Amino acid sequence: MAAITNSYRKNRISLNIAHKQGRFNGNDLLSFIIFINDIEFLFHNVKMIKGFVTDISFSLRGVEMASRIYDCLSKISAKIIENKDFLTDLDREIGDADHGVNMARGFEAVMEKLSPDNDDIGAVLKTTGMTLLSTVGGASGPLYGTAYMEAGKALMGKTSVTKDDMKAVFEAAIAGIQKRGKAERGEKTMLDAIIPAYEAYCSSVDGGKETADALEDACKAANEGIEFTKTIRATKGRASYLGDRSIGHQDPGATSATLTLEVITEFLKG
Ligand code: ADP
Ligand code: MG
Repeated sequence: MAAITNSYRKNRISLNIAHKQGRFNGNDLLSFIIFINDIEFLFHNVKMIKGFVTDISFSLRGVEMASRIYDCLSKISAKIIENKDFLTDLDREIGDADHGVNMARGFEAVMEKLSPDNDDIGAVLKTTGMTLLSTVGGASGPLYGTAYMEAGKALMGKTSVTKDDMKAVFEAAIAGIQKRGKAERGEKTMLDAIIPAYEAYCSSVDGGKETADALEDACKAANEGIEFTKTIRATKGRASYLGDRSIGHQDPGATSATLTLEVITEFLKG
């Protein structure tokens, strides 16, 4: 920068001397040369400013990367809170009208616990799970809590997610839910959305699709899973007390699981 400024000054001085000595007659030529020097000087400054701006945006991108998992969780939290009444109304039909309230309370607590600076996906998921476990009542607290904690174990220390990591997350979450709740597919629970979603994801990835596209297929399967829960009778959880009267209603847990998956998919699609 200083070198350019000096050479710029030197050029102008020598051009002025040349002009004074009469070696250049036309003011036009001198102005033209000075104009070229000015352009060069300006160009250099622009390059410097551009470099500076690039440096800033690079470091900002670094910060953004560090907060990606936090951003994803805050979007999930916002979606659950936004759907609090909807999920509660679904639970009113076949349960005790608290699913949305439970989940919203849990995610409010999660967002208070999480730090935007922590980019360890596994650690963040583990904190999420532990917070859900300790703040959400009913069946969904321990079930979602275990799902997030097990998913966290599968991704401990990772700051990005591969196709296989996503498979591992599904597998860990499903295993955690089944370990706690002892339910199988077809009992009108969240598993009726999550298991078909997992299967669709695997077959799309195995067929060569990228993570986000395979997750879109998973969302489609999860929504079909919700539709399926309307056709069956609950044999696990509070809804099972209704027996055949639970038929015709969609499962609240399958719905919250699908909303979560949709947010993750949107987030990864960027
Ligand atoms: P509670 O039924 O205790 O009031 P919530 O209303 O928060 O808890 O959650 C109900 C949801 O939990 C159900 O819609 C269902 O998807 C899910 N659920 C209940 N029992 C089980 C289970 N054993 N396994 C998997 N999911 C279950
Ligand atoms: Mg309930």
